[in-house]
Amino acid sequence: MAHRRDGCKGCADSVRVSPDKLERLIAVALQGREAAAEAEAARRLAACRACSGLQYGTTCRYCGCLVDVRARLRGSACPHPGASRWRSEEGGRTDAGRRAEAGDGDG
Ligand code: SF4
Repeated sequence: MAHRRDGCKGCADSVRVSPDKLERLIAVALQGREAAAEAEAARRLAACRACSGLQYGTTCRYCGCLVDVRARLRGSACPHPGASRWRSEEGGRTDAGRRAEAGDGDG
């Protein structure tokens, strides 16, 4: 595929999401689901912005999700191979570690 980048699960350079569309997608994703606290979402997104797995400024190369959507869902986890890049303020534990301690399922 001519536009496919190495390592990306299937998106292409032509895949762009406007800010308006992104806001609509976030609103749809949050319907009936618990939102992450604003500070937690901001922390996750900062990690995404610094991650080499971020493609096109919007998409995680490991799961294909729009990170602005994924980060705002409370039950989400970072799929980075080996270890989550999303750190919490709670002693530096990862999102997955906190959820495992709380007995929550994977998001
Ligand atoms: S691997 Fe984690 S930190 Fe990196 S872009 Fe994906 S969700 Fe964000």
